Amino acid sequence: MRITSRAKAIAFFITLGACLVALAIFLNITWIVFHWRQVVPLVLGIIFFGVIIAGLVVNTIFIVREIRRNERQDSFLNAVTHELKTPVTSIRLYLETLQSRPLDEAKRRDFYRIMLEDSDRLLGMIEQVLKAGEARHAGGRRNWQEVDFAQVARETLELARLRHNLKPEALRFGSEPPPDLVVMGNPEELRTAVFNLLDNAIKYSGENKNIVVDVRTPNIDSIFFSVRDQGIGIPRVELKRIFNRFYRIQSSATGKVTGTGLGLFIVRSVVRRYGGDAYAESQGEGLGSTFTIRLPRVYRA
Ligand code: ADP
Repeated sequence: MRITSRAKAIAFFITLGACLVALAIFLNITWIVFHWRQVVPLVLGIIFFGVIIAGLVVNTIFIVREIRRNERQDSFLNAVTHELKTPVTSIRLYLETLQSRPLDEAKRRDFYRIMLEDSDRLLGMIEQVLKAGEARHAGGRRNWQEVDFAQVARETLELARLRHNLKPEALRFGSEPPPDLVVMGNPEELRTAVFNLLDNAIKYSGENKNIVVDVRTPNIDSIFFSVRDQGIGIPRVELKRIFNRFYRIQSSATGKVTGTGLGLFIVRSVVRRYGGDAYAESQGEGLGSTFTIRLPRVYRA
């Protein structure tokens, strides 16, 4: 792994914290040795040193967390800038060509198609940033209604196939979703959550796209939606962190894929607001992953 200036800063603050804690422990022991016959200074000393040591530990943890958060925000800004600039540059280039040269109909159509794809990509990125902002602040139940979840899953799967030009067998249902799966919520938000999981499974599958989607109801009050891929997999220590805002795994496999680190944050924020949860499972790097969301099921009156 590349040693960045931030990694050095983290190492420095951890070492400083450890040295200060060691010094405080040493002073504490000295205090105990000198005052072991006097109960009041002995007890007060132990309490004060305890407070100082706890303060040092909390302070070091806080500083290290802040440095990490800063790092994530920086890489998010880089990713967003790149993701915004690339399609705009491409659209501009095609427009300039269209303006400066006479082109045959087939070529023109091709250019329009590419420009539409680029603008879709741009729109997708802008929407994701906006949704992440909403996900942080939304507490209300805007546009909540009874939603047929199987329908949402089917439509979104179709959309993901279309966007990524996938054959049906590359992204498919393991078994047909059961009927009458009703969730209370905003259909748009549910589509976003489902789409983000499918989009990730496709993005992080490399060439071997073999993604199986399942909707299950193992008990009467929950719906489990899971997406299983055979892609790059996730190390055990990262399984929880990837749901944090801006978090992206720093590995050569993830590095090849562009992203903002917002998708899973949006998924978890939405489903938690609905009283459900989201989690990831993987046997490790290169061994594929399974993402599951649990949503509370409601029954039509
Ligand atoms: P993004 O994909 O834009 O980076 P996400 O929040 O959707 O952001 O995902 C966070 C990180 O979790 C990704 O950067 C990637 O490292 C990891 N990840 C997400 N989905 C998968 C998957 N299906 N397989 C392997 N890694 C994944």
